[in-house]
Amino acid sequence: MKLKRTTKNYIYVAGLLVILSVSIAKYYLDSQQVADEVSNELRHIIQENIDYYTVNMSEDVPVRNCSKFIEKHISLLLFNRDIRSISITDGNKVSCSSVQSLNGIEVKIKKEEVGMIRLFYIPRAPYTDYLISKDDDSVLLKISYTPTYAIYFAFFPEVLTELMENYSWYNIFIKLENASLYKDSVVTENNYLHRGELFETDFNLKLCSFLTYFIINHGFIIIFWTITYLVVVNRSSPIFDRFKASYRSINKALKRSDFHPYLQPVFDINGTLVGAEVLVRWVHPSKGIIPPNDFIDEVEANGKIIEITRMLMNKCSSHLRHAEYLRNKDFHLGFNVCAIQFDSNYLYEDVVQLQQELSPNPIKIVLEVTERHEFENSVFTPYISRLKDKGVIIALDDFGTGHCSMKYLINTRIDVIKIDRTFIDTISSGGSTHVLNAIINLAQSTDIELLAEGVENQEQFNYLHARNIDQYQGFFFDKPLPIEKFIEKYLT
Ligand code: C2E
Ligand code: CA
Ligand code: CA
Repeated sequence: MKLKRTTKNYIYVAGLLVILSVSIAKYYLDSQQVADEVSNELRHIIQENIDYYTVNMSEDVPVRNCSKFIEKHISLLLFNRDIRSISITDGNKVSCSSVQSLNGIEVKIKKEEVGMIRLFYIPRAPYTDYLISKDDDSVLLKISYTPTYAIYFAFFPEVLTELMENYSWYNIFIKLENASLYKDSVVTENNYLHRGELFETDFNLKLCSFLTYFIINHGFIIIFWTITYLVVVNRSSPIFDRFKASYRSINKALKRSDFHPYLQPVFDINGTLVGAEVLVRWVHPSKGIIPPNDFIDEVEANGKIIEITRMLMNKCSSHLRHAEYLRNKDFHLGFNVCAIQFDSNYLYEDVVQLQQELSPNPIKIVLEVTERHEFENSVFTPYISRLKDKGVIIALDDFGTGHCSMKYLINTRIDVIKIDRTFIDTISSGGSTHVLNAIINLAQSTDIELLAEGVENQEQFNYLHARNIDQYQGFFFDKPLPIEKFIEKYLT
């Protein structure tokens, strides 16, 4: 589906962009907040261990009796599932560890300042840079309390990664001095940490995570906005109006006699009124005047146009039958007809009846046929001949806009060509008038009359007048008027 460039659609798209921007901003702020929460939780875990050291362990160091020391503090390991081991180093060797096999082994240990606390990651034993761990990876909390003496609390890395798991659509990570820990992976790298920080938390913005967040949190606003757009904003669009012009509502309108003829005057080259085109208006009791473009396709497709045209003919007949003014005048009355009306004899019968009713006034009936729907030639041509035998004038409407103009010109005896408004527009819009000139030349080389539709200004009129166009219709002269007003203005 392609959105047309209408104001309504712009508003809809602008609404979507606003929702998207708000969502991105909120996602960013939420990510920041979640990163802070993870940071606080981790700080809390670390602090618990430092406190434990300060309150319960510091009096036992330096360790004189390792087994007693371990025995005393084993409860830390047993009851705190976060901690995998405690070890103490003295100089370059492990002097006491809850992991038996580590006791006494030589390790290369970085000397720290007294009171220094660090948090770092070790991937796998054996490691010479850091304390050796036999198992898999760990995160070590190292507290140095003499230049050579340090205590290590070893955490399962999951203790840290689990902190982030609850926030599924935010990509939070924990930066240690030598690694970054994500929800499901660890990347060893040297991170810059602000002075004195053991760790920092940060986040990445990832499209797929954002989309999950967006759909779950703001999906309903998008749905709501789209429904609002379709129902409220789009209410008066053609889609909606056609929907309203249902078979039932048209039947009701026919019963109420809602369809009313509006007449737009046609003038000859001298400015004399020579006729009018009948344009239908649906005068709805509550919705007001509905223009043909909102329902004509529907009624042409479902055949209701036959009854509508008949209603227009009847109304024109009763208004014009006794118009004294038209006696001895040459006046044409044009009706728009479509292909489906040539499938039955109704059109012919209706036209003949109209002619009879109008016989006190010699009004000539014009039928305007368009190329909107293709006519079946074998039906159309003989039908037209019968109508012409009755004195009906045939006009080819919207000439040049479809593909079949030439076909009808060749096969059918056309009396008038109505040059479509789009070509008249080229006169004053600065566009090319080549096609317009070609149409004029074509018609003038035959005896077909030319009528210019949609003449809107003096410049267009002058141009057409200079080229001897026979008839003129358009807002420059007058707009379509309700038949009563038309009679009052032109026929009295
Ligand atoms: P159309 O037959 O080409 O009728 C001319 C349309 O151009 C009319 O629109 C008229 O109001 C408008 N118009 C006239 N002068 C000017 C002008 O100077 N500038 C501009 N911009 N427009 C001008 P309307 O009345 O809205 O009718 C639209 C179309 O609906 C008609 O186009 C015709 O195809 C169809 N239609 C109207 N009444 C009937 C009907 O009774 N039966 C059928 N089958 N179709 C109808
Ligand atoms: Ca027309
Ligand atoms: Ca037309």
